[in-house]
Amino acid sequence: MRVLAIGAHPDDMELLCAGTLAKYAKLGHKVTMCTVAAGDKGHFHIGPTELVEIRRKEAEKSASLINADYIPLFIPDGEVYVDHETMMMVVDVIRQAKPDVIITHSPTDYMPDHVAASKLAYAATFHATLPHFKTAHETHDVVPPVYYMDTLVGLDFQPAEYVDITDVFETKRNMLKRHDSQLTWLREHDNYDALDAMETCAKFRGLQCGVKYAEGFRQTERWLRMRPERILP
Ligand SMILES: [Zn+2]
Repeated sequence: MRVLAIGAHPDDMELLCAGTLAKYAKLGHKVTMCTVAAGDKGHFHIGPTELVEIRRKEAEKSASLINADYIPLFIPDGEVYVDHETMMMVVDVIRQAKPDVIITHSPTDYMPDHVAASKLAYAATFHATLPHFKTAHETHDVVPPVYYMDTLVGLDFQPAEYVDITDVFETKRNMLKRHDSQLTWLREHDNYDALDAMETCAKFRGLQCGVKYAEGFRQTERWLRMRPERILP
């Protein structure tokens, strides 16, 4: 299978679905990770231009740990909107990655960029199949299933499916650790220890399904996107 994860900022996928992506990769599936926002605002001292480059490298290193392709779109943080231009960028990412399944944010997540990325990913799955929308790549031939990943710290999100990530938990942790600039920023700006919080959430979801560590998901139950078999690993 080809798997495409679309997150808002560099580090969101590591927090919310990297265990599942690592598991897909371990099983021999092709994983592509796309970030819509540039990550240009997440620091007290480092300016946006320099920060974008730092965060791109961090995200690339993280993706390389599971041999995933990484596609950044560089929309400024806090300015991710569901507009035509951004939609066509996401359409082109889907056409490039040709996914059998897409994982993205829950529309109930806490941050407007996350909500917009979720809406863009969902809508673009259909638009990517329409030949009269012209982008750099050829149309995709299926409308893939879309799974929403957990919200940050699990608020307003009831998983319908779980993935046991116990055997790839260290990979997930190592992927998140690559986002060094953000671990510092989140501690200073939000009093949030991202590594500890990630482990707490993975343990809590694991507790719910009888394993040590898990990630939770909900499938979007819409026409053209349902499959008879289990899609998550
Ligand atoms: Zn984010």
